[in-house]
Amino acid sequence: MTISNGERRFQELLEAAPDAIMEVDSSGTIVLLNAAAEKLFDYPRDELLGRNIDSLVPDAVRGRHAAHRAGFTAHPSTRTMGRGMILAARRSNGSEFPVEISLSPANTPEGFRVTAIIRDVTDQRNAEDVIRRANIELEARNREVERANQLKSEFLASMSHELRTPLHTILGFTELLKEELEGPLNEKQHRFLRHVHQDALHLLALINDILDLSKIEAGRLELHRETFDAQTVIRDAVDAIRPQAESKEIAVDEILQSAVTVYGDRVRFREILNNLLSNAVKFTPAGGRITVEAEESGGLIRFGVTDSGIGIAAEHHEAIFDKFRPVSSTTRGVREGTGLGLAIVKRLVELHGGSIRVESELGHGSRFHFTIPAGDPGTRTQPLILIVEDEIAARELLAGYVEPNGFRTEMSATAEDALVRARELRPDIIALDLMLPGKSGFQLLRELRELPETRNIPVLVTSVLDEEEIQHLEATEFLRKPVNREALLKAIRRHLPKRFAII
Ligand code: ADP
Repeated sequence: MTISNGERRFQELLEAAPDAIMEVDSSGTIVLLNAAAEKLFDYPRDELLGRNIDSLVPDAVRGRHAAHRAGFTAHPSTRTMGRGMILAARRSNGSEFPVEISLSPANTPEGFRVTAIIRDVTDQRNAEDVIRRANIELEARNREVERANQLKSEFLASMSHELRTPLHTILGFTELLKEELEGPLNEKQHRFLRHVHQDALHLLALINDILDLSKIEAGRLELHRETFDAQTVIRDAVDAIRPQAESKEIAVDEILQSAVTVYGDRVRFREILNNLLSNAVKFTPAGGRITVEAEESGGLIRFGVTDSGIGIAAEHHEAIFDKFRPVSSTTRGVREGTGLGLAIVKRLVELHGGSIRVESELGHGSRFHFTIPAGDPGTRTQPLILIVEDEIAARELLAGYVEPNGFRTEMSATAEDALVRARELRPDIIALDLMLPGKSGFQLLRELRELPETRNIPVLVTSVLDEEEIQHLEATEFLRKPVNREALLKAIRRHLPKRFAII
């Protein structure tokens, strides 16, 4: 038989291929192989030719391999690299190594043949092992760091607590002494006592801040949320700071919408305002101006505390929210305060589900903005739909259906997150997928129906299940997946609170 040029070139190509290539017949006998196969299995070519391929797999899987081979011959199909069957191969000296194999069957004039391309993946496996081990180590280290952090917060919390008791004693006795009930004090003694009293107060403020921050960081600070009028709290906070502002001839204005109801923790909200206002007074020179604003915008109240003070350089805009990061001195040139105020403010705002940022330029005043969820949903101008769905594409599809029709959306990928958001934002409608990772949509629905603040929110269940299977649930309506846009919009409009003009 003469060999054409093309055939010779093809043979040379096979011979030079970096992967081992072998052809076996229906009984598993090797009938053809290239140089890479000799090298990979460490046999001379004539020892491989005529040998059964089963002898090239480890002893432990040899029996299974023969069965696999028979199965492949009965139902031949091309299998690509990486989806091969043999995961370990055996060299002439008995050593084993991992391989990836691709198989392609062919009916030739000589009968049924299978071509196997075999690649040694030892290096790849080793690299994967290194990464896997590094990941495991990293996870363990992360857990350790988390635990250490938790312990640190717990330690700080208990230590702060212990420190407060003797401090209150110091403050109490200094105040008694100052009242001179136990006998008169001279001017110098009064001055000394003032120093003791002032520093004890400062220490108490610092300890209270550390206690607050460590509680927040240990996840132990609970918000007592309620719907309340932010106006009265703002007025109280402004009235409290006014004497300090007036002593520096700083004007304080409020610009408020008629009704500013928020849903949050009244005491913590006041703490946020106190911190921002006292900073504003501290860092504003005499004759300046401070403005507090609040306006509702799509389910959130946006607050602003603006001053005409010394300002903050752009490179410090993030650092000021870190712990113990004072970046400038007060207008009296001293470093007052604990350096914890803004760190606490930021965490408190975030606990409420809001965010805070600063706009400022050195020498041109500062403006702190923060958001807190609106309280009475009646102040919302756009209906809010909470989409609970773990698949991103499905989530975005629903949002894409409703947003152009005048609805605002919020998303949750888990039942846990959805419950927190439903309580915080009190959406007008919830679109709920039942199949969620972890806690199911069924459980979430039960919990929503139990909580007084979420009990009356209409829930549209989106599911691939038949309505009969889920009609025992306390859902407002069922929508079969894939959800039809018109059906969804109609259902939403049917259950939308009456105060929204039909959009
Ligand atoms: P402190 O107790 O030092 O005020 P904060 O955490 O409240 O700590 O603030 C951190 C730092 O941010 C302050 O020391 C100050 O440098 C800067 N800062 C905060 N508020 C203002 C403001 N209104 N104007 C200018 N600088 C400010």
